[in-house]
Amino acid sequence: EWVDFTEFFNRIIERFEMSKEQNATFKRAFSKKTRFIEIDEDKITQVLYNIISNALKYSPEGGTVTYRLRDRGEALEVSISDQGMGIPKDNVNKIFDRFYRVDKARSRQLGGTGLGLAIAKEMVQAHGGAIWAKSEEGKGTTIYFTLPMERDQEDDWE
Ligand code: ATP
Ligand code: MG
Repeated sequence: EWVDFTEFFNRIIERFEMSKEQNATFKRAFSKKTRFIEIDEDKITQVLYNIISNALKYSPEGGTVTYRLRDRGEALEVSISDQGMGIPKDNVNKIFDRFYRVDKARSRQLGGTGLGLAIAKEMVQAHGGAIWAKSEEGKGTTIYFTLPMERDQEDDWE
């Protein structure tokens, strides 16, 4: 369905803002203009939920989570940055693999299955987009994904 992504994104951020137990500060670094795009709302909600949950889970109390939207011509680029523990350089590309978790001991303590980002990747790719991460250990992580503004007819919705 067609949605104004700006409004949709704001709604999800607000939901997290109201439910969060942590003292994280949320910063919206994007303009209020409308950005119409055709997406499966349930699936992209899941993608955002998985990414934002990680930003909160792998950050100490009191960090800032920054939300950005950028227009990249053919695509809309969404990014979510945290000021958490970060990911070692050699592991950054593996975090989208099924069951992959950085540092087994730490992850066991925090709980989870290691599937959140693998599911996010599958759903972003089903929309014809891409997902990637940039991270610096001890400084924080940014997860980026794109959504094409015009979808191809033959794109797989499943
Ligand atoms: P699940 O999401 O299934 O509950 P999970 O959070 O361990 O479990 P993913 O969301 O797929 O699984 O993330 C994979 C791994 O990537 C995590 O275990 C964590 O080590 C690392 N990771 C993901 N996001 C971040 C982040 N924002 N900061 C630091 N590490 C992260
Ligand atoms: Mg997760």
